Amino acid sequence: SSQSVSLFNAGPAKLPRPVLLKLQKELLDYNGLGYSIMELSHRSAAYARLNADTEQMLRESMSIPCSHAILFMHGGGTGQFSAIPLNFMETKGRTTAEHGVETRTADYVVTGLWSSKAAQEAKKFGHINMVCPVPEKFTYVPEPATWAPSIDASYLYYCANETIHGVEFPEVPTPPTPHAPLVADISSNFLSRPMDVSKLGLAFAGAQKNAGCAGLTIVIVQRELLGRCDPRCPVVLDYGIVEKHSSVYNTPPVWSLFVFNQVLKWIQETGGLPAMEAMNKAKSKRIFDAIDQSGGFYSSAVEDKWRSRMNIPFRVGGPNGSQELETAFLTGAEARGMVGLKGHRSMGGIRASLYNAVTEDEVFLLSSYMEEFMSANR
Ligand code: PMP
Repeated sequence: SSQSVSLFNAGPAKLPRPVLLKLQKELLDYNGLGYSIMELSHRSAAYARLNADTEQMLRESMSIPCSHAILFMHGGGTGQFSAIPLNFMETKGRTTAEHGVETRTADYVVTGLWSSKAAQEAKKFGHINMVCPVPEKFTYVPEPATWAPSIDASYLYYCANETIHGVEFPEVPTPPTPHAPLVADISSNFLSRPMDVSKLGLAFAGAQKNAGCAGLTIVIVQRELLGRCDPRCPVVLDYGIVEKHSSVYNTPPVWSLFVFNQVLKWIQETGGLPAMEAMNKAKSKRIFDAIDQSGGFYSSAVEDKWRSRMNIPFRVGGPNGSQELETAFLTGAEARGMVGLKGHRSMGGIRASLYNAVTEDEVFLLSSYMEEFMSANR
């Protein structure tokens, strides 16, 4: 069984074992209907209940205020890179060489590859103002107090956890005022800790890390910001339309929503977000301790304050890594049943993704292996 493997994938990623078993059990017969959830009509009462129940559980888990709507969408995080400028960028009358008169402006904080891609996409739709210098190696976040928001921005965008570079905001940032509504990509730290959503205009996440499987994108949006969508925006990306139709304007990803529902139940039964946070703190500390106590054999480039609890990229054999040692490390890890530790192709090295479903035992297995490998190879 797959339980003999410890999965450290960055996404799609490990799902809690009890959730997988429940899915297996329900696969052929959903709730006693006599057919599969995959065959369930999204216009049925059963789906409406599933949709409402899922929304309610998410609202409770994250304490999402009623000022904010919850949307279930398609298109992944990448779809949101386009949806955000299309829904929010308003014409405020600045002139630039690129876009001419009456352009639309948005503020971006670039702290890694994902926020960089988001800013790149938004450039198609208007002027992008960088509120701070882009860190050369993506190893920290320029202090929010030093950011320079622009006066005519429609929103201020940041990525709460850079999955590739392992840079995470420990809390919702406080930029200098006045600033536009904050928009956060929470794809890879969604549900890993409590988060003050009331401070955000919008937050979005693909489900395939902490919230289930690919195909579902969760959007949490302040209702006040709806209704300013570009008329040319594709209908599936129009927040106002999705909200008005309770996320069933078109066929939703029924299966992915069911998986999300089961993951939320598991989170609640396990103690909610405070419990997730406590576990994630302990898990990430174990790996960071193994790195920090290795006398440089292992190294993480990210500044302490901005270290991610979800994704930990590190090198073996010095700050730039040794190809030979890293290959040997990965081979040895696989031989011990640890899979998914290869760093992102743009970074090389190792990356341990410690999402909610990765157990403390699995993390212990990894940290013990790190010690063993170091003793044998230093
Ligand atoms: N944002 C972050 C932080 C991500 O990690 C990813 C994917 N790994 C994306 C956005 C893009 O998501 P998708 O692949 O669902 O488009």
